[in-house]
Amino acid sequence: MDVFNKVSTLKDFVNNCRFSKKSVGFVPTMGALHHGHITLIKKSIQENDITICSIFVNPTQFNNAIDLKHYPVQHEQDKKMLEEAGCSALFLPSVEEMYPLGIEQSQMTGFNFGIIEKQLEGAFRPGHFNGVGIVVSKLFHMVNPDKAYFGLKDLQQFLIIRKMTADLSFGIDVIGVPTVRENDGLAMSSRNLRLTEDERKVAPFIYEVISTMKEKIDHNQAPKEVLDWGIAKFQNNTKFHLEYLEIVDTTTLTKVEDYKKPLSYAIVIAAHLGKVRLIDNLLIE
Ligand code: AMP
Repeated sequence: MDVFNKVSTLKDFVNNCRFSKKSVGFVPTMGALHHGHITLIKKSIQENDITICSIFVNPTQFNNAIDLKHYPVQHEQDKKMLEEAGCSALFLPSVEEMYPLGIEQSQMTGFNFGIIEKQLEGAFRPGHFNGVGIVVSKLFHMVNPDKAYFGLKDLQQFLIIRKMTADLSFGIDVIGVPTVRENDGLAMSSRNLRLTEDERKVAPFIYEVISTMKEKIDHNQAPKEVLDWGIAKFQNNTKFHLEYLEIVDTTTLTKVEDYKKPLSYAIVIAAHLGKVRLIDNLLIE
């Protein structure tokens, strides 16, 4: 696997691929890779001649300096996993390489994604999606892929990137990949590494609650009733601090008051367990 730290060498590589008419798939990540990331890589390998992964912990999308400081970094292990999966190239730039004008300058570039960014992660992490928009646009220009792969675990991020890609005519197919879970249901996440042993044991509670909520929705129980039930479960579990739990429609991410077909819904959740903020969702289609 080729490893590029510079935009110029990455671009040479991509230009060579284009010259030999090879299709390029791209998987942007922040590293500390797990099987969820590798599932995205494998899908890209299946669908493209060349797969490029990027690892960059993007400072402009962190609204919490402590979260940024503690974000796990394990490049050697990541490289090994990518190599084993069959990834063609890794782009591993420094902050200076990504933001030659400085972070503050770049953050002045502003996106307005409309209603889709106003709630959920957007409401609780001010500036987060602006940072995501900036870094993904930059990476898309640098890598210029045919297809890019994103996890549906970050549902709001996926919807925003899909919209941005269409609105700004990037000409890239944005593909959503279903959430990969541990055997006990916990959604895989780099942040799980920061859970203590005890916290890790109780973490699947999030999935237990939202899957039972999904069953209730499947049995046509009214959204408010299902939501009240879910919120009460968290009120009775002092280990978690619930940030939001909602049933939303997946076009606007606004709250669902009643079920009107043919909408598709999602149960979305963010909760703190100790020092770690976990998010998850279940799609109901
Ligand atoms: P991250 O490194 O957390 O920024 O994630 C990089 C990409 O992997 C994003 O598109 C995530 O949505 C995706 N991803 C993270 N965790 C999972 C998971 N458990 N299942 C599927 N995709 C995931």
